[in-house]
Amino acid sequence: MQFLPRPTLLFCIGAVWLACVAKGGAAPAAPPADPSPLVQSYVNAVRKLNEEHARRPGKTNEDALKAKLPRAAAASLEKLLGLDASPAVLDGLSECAGAALDLDRTEDFDKIRRRLEATAPDRAKALGTTLSRPRFQLRGLRGLDARHLETFADVMDTVLAAYDDVFGFKEWSKVPGKKLRVRIHLEPKIEKPPHFAPELPFHSEIDFPVVDPEVFRSPTADGKFLFYGLCHELGHVIAMWGDARREEDHHTWAHYTGVTIVEHLAAKQPAPACLAQVKDRAWRSLEGERKRLSGHAPGLEDADATLALFIQIHDRVGPGAVGSAINHLDALDQRKRIGRVRYYTFDELRAGLLATVKDKKAKQAIVDLFAQAKTKPGQ
Ligand SMILES: [Zn+2]
Repeated sequence: MQFLPRPTLLFCIGAVWLACVAKGGAAPAAPPADPSPLVQSYVNAVRKLNEEHARRPGKTNEDALKAKLPRAAAASLEKLLGLDASPAVLDGLSECAGAALDLDRTEDFDKIRRRLEATAPDRAKALGTTLSRPRFQLRGLRGLDARHLETFADVMDTVLAAYDDVFGFKEWSKVPGKKLRVRIHLEPKIEKPPHFAPELPFHSEIDFPVVDPEVFRSPTADGKFLFYGLCHELGHVIAMWGDARREEDHHTWAHYTGVTIVEHLAAKQPAPACLAQVKDRAWRSLEGERKRLSGHAPGLEDADATLALFIQIHDRVGPGAVGSAINHLDALDQRKRIGRVRYYTFDELRAGLLATVKDKKAKQAIVDLFAQAKTKPGQ
């Protein structure tokens, strides 16, 4: 046995004395526990996993990734859930709820939400609801419940399956393996159309307003093409064009893929039940654009010219070839990325098509189309 050095011994005696005083007198109320180490343990573990995955995604998908959360981080969340509800604990729970969704830990999100419902219902309401399926995660805000999200999820699965059938794009989110996110919010009136939010660090997200949570209706009573909007935004998720300053496609790529998918699903037999109230094809279709642009030469100078180019590529080699070209470029992974979002150029699309289209006549058609597009005035 060792003797303790004197200062340590004094400290121990002092501590025993203080403990006796505390026991004997009226104990002051214990200060609320500081939840920040628990919050940081969970939030940092999520961020670390996402950062490591973004650096080297390999073949890991998000369902496998979320299972890698260290036990210590999961235990920290459990401890946090058990603390008395101080403002700091409530803030910490809200922060962890956001982190949970960053890793698709929807079970953790639901636990936090239930905990907040008991003590801070307004905070629980602000968190909203969530639903995860293999390819995407939905978040419902401003009064959308899980049942409403199921309605939207069926539409989303149907649209993604149509993209598979028509184009066959392999990689959706900007970080391979991560699920797409859709943030759906109930609004009294749609002021802003759906839009792609490319700024998030680890996944691609679409912001989507709805006015009628019970049924997916499009166009809405006031003429908003929500279904076409969803198909269009997914086109942006797949590919942006040019760079941050110059939209090389004049915003026609997402329109092209959008009307193509609207038309494909409108013709599908049997008609998907979740699209019973979708009538967009009467106003938004590839056929309509083909007619409008008949005789319009393909080019790169403006929206009609680039749309004519996409439609002529579609008609000469088929949308499956367009999908294969994009997949080929993704496999090379040499095109531009801005904030991890994939940006393409028409030169790259041409190279991708020529690398993947095998038929000689189709190959020549690609060469001729791009030569025609590039020799137009202003190119
Ligand atoms: Zn757009």
